[in-house]
Amino acid sequence: MVQDQRAVLELLYRVSREFATALDLKTVLTRVLFSAIKNVGGERGSVVVMDDYGRAVDSAIVYGNQLRESNTMQLKATVDHGLAGWVVRNRQAALVPDTSKDSRWLLREDDAMDRSGAKSAICVPLMTREKLVGVLTLVHPVPGSYNVDHLDLMQAIADQAGIAVLNARLFSESQRQARAMTALAEGAASLSSSVRMDDLFENILTQTKQALQVEITALGLVEDQELVFRAASQYGDVVIGKRLKLNEGIAGTVAFQGHGVIIPAAASDTQPLLSQTEIIPGVKVRALACAPIQVQGKVIGVLEAINPVNKSFDPDALFVLTGLGALAGTTIQNAQLFESLDAARKRYRDLFEDSIDPIIITDLKGRILEVNKQAVFFSGHSAAALHEFLIAQVHDINYEKTGRLFEKIGDSGLIYESTLYDSRGGTYPVEVYSRKVIFDETKSIQWILRDLTERKELDSLREDLAAMIYHDLRSPLANILSSVEMLDMILSEPERENAAPIMKIAHDSINRIQRLVSSLLDLNRLEQNQPVGERQSVEAALLVTDAVDAVGPSAAAREQTIITLVAENLSPLWVDIDMIRRVLINLLENAVKYTPMGGRVEIGAEVDGDYVRFFVLDNGQGIPETERDRIFDKFARLKNKTGAKGLGVGLAFCKLAVQGHGGKIWVEPAAERGSKFLFTVPMVNKK
Ligand code: ADP
Repeated sequence: MVQDQRAVLELLYRVSREFATALDLKTVLTRVLFSAIKNVGGERGSVVVMDDYGRAVDSAIVYGNQLRESNTMQLKATVDHGLAGWVVRNRQAALVPDTSKDSRWLLREDDAMDRSGAKSAICVPLMTREKLVGVLTLVHPVPGSYNVDHLDLMQAIADQAGIAVLNARLFSESQRQARAMTALAEGAASLSSSVRMDDLFENILTQTKQALQVEITALGLVEDQELVFRAASQYGDVVIGKRLKLNEGIAGTVAFQGHGVIIPAAASDTQPLLSQTEIIPGVKVRALACAPIQVQGKVIGVLEAINPVNKSFDPDALFVLTGLGALAGTTIQNAQLFESLDAARKRYRDLFEDSIDPIIITDLKGRILEVNKQAVFFSGHSAAALHEFLIAQVHDINYEKTGRLFEKIGDSGLIYESTLYDSRGGTYPVEVYSRKVIFDETKSIQWILRDLTERKELDSLREDLAAMIYHDLRSPLANILSSVEMLDMILSEPERENAAPIMKIAHDSINRIQRLVSSLLDLNRLEQNQPVGERQSVEAALLVTDAVDAVGPSAAAREQTIITLVAENLSPLWVDIDMIRRVLINLLENAVKYTPMGGRVEIGAEVDGDYVRFFVLDNGQGIPETERDRIFDKFARLKNKTGAKGLGVGLAFCKLAVQGHGGKIWVEPAAERGSKFLFTVPMVNKK
């Protein structure tokens, strides 16, 4: 069969042209095998293509003039252990006249004597520029059919084939890479278009399915240290909601370790790797790829591709899946942010709409942008009408607080009382709470106008009641006092002695009521900025003694000790004596009232510049820092453990009385526990 030199050259010229005109790897391989069998002879031939790292990447098998379905995995055994392996390792052609006698030949079932038995074989490396690109093997059914001439011819054909195979391999690699890149680019373009989570999941699954050409895709997210399946291209009803522990099965392991896994093997090998949870009833997992979904290096889930349509995965499958996983990570995170933002916006909307207070949103110039139901209700204008208004048309703005251009309104908000005007000419007292907010992504001002009608009515009711009590109490009280005094006078001496304790109780009680009534009256007067009553000079020590006398019985009843600490050499005070006495009594009464049984109270006075500073100290429950200003407001009362009751006007009176004298009043925490009330009033030399 070996022809003369010229014929060989012609042959080689023809085959090299034939090989070079094809670019598709399979076509090139088939042509190489056909021409080898035709020109060298033999029953069958195979070719294995290797990549730059010596890994088998593609193959072809020909029987006679038929291309056989081949699996590169099967040929791998030959390349690793068989004749082809020897050729690869030695970069040298091999001639095997009898396969049953050559240890390089990998014996298979087929080689048994009762089957095809001994054969002859030729195997040559496919080289180009010193680089191995594959191995070509020919097999003849009859031992001794090949000789050295056959080997030379085969090598010559292989030399022509090498470059063509390399080109075709590079071409198919570049095409695959291009496909992978296209898949990723398409994925990126498509994924970034969805912000809603459900759409996004569907989109990721579709992109993955297309890019990897698989039957099933699924997606899981890491939630509370577990992987929870959130979407699947098929079998959603069984897959969605499945939970895997991190490190459980394939998907759990990928989620835990953060790098992808590809299992290209047959079902028998794959199935045992799956955890019980991962098995989908009725689905045989032939091959599977799983990649992490990551955001900034953190695994937030996994993307799974099951059963490639073409039976096996492309070598780039994991690369593409990992790329899609990375893309999915960013888009899922965006969608999550979007969803939480959306939820927050909706929550704000609901709160806004359902608020029992009228709420109005304006721009920074005060033009109304948005109003809630209550704003419509209170103002009597329709929402559309209000949108044409300025906030100043709805209520009286306290420009002193807000600033002319609302520049004083900040993020933490400010409060003032005002009047809201409605469409019918009516008015409502309101407390306005205004602050800067971001509304529909623009800087805006939110105005909450709380209706104070009820509170105002309650306040005025209280005031009316107070006014009624002290006006209507004063004269009957004076009558009682004079009656008691008269009674005392008409009693005989022994009777008077017997009645003395009762008379004292009556006197003390009348005095207390009188003090209360006078303080309420003073409070009313001082609130209207009227001056304090006539001033006289008095010793501080005397006022302290009066106070201790007045409160002493209550303190004694509560087994408390009152200690007086008046500094020596104090100049006399210049005050409305009755008023300041009542201030001291008030503070001392509170100290006794809010200090538990057996407590200790101190009262005293010392110099403070031109003033005398009085103090009343107790070891009771104390007053929280946040309340230390507020307790001096009218009707302010704190929750107290002693259960003591009061009106909440005592300290309000004290404050106005002291301020009416040009002094100050405040409270400090006592050194250990309890409170220390202090106030200053002027000394005589300051008058
Ligand atoms: P009233 O005693 O009638 O309630 P006041 O104006 O005298 O009203 O006091 C206001 C509130 O301040 C009291 O309700 C009480 O909660 C608190 N307070 C006043 N003095 C003391 C004190 N010495 N220790 C603790 N709490 C006090």
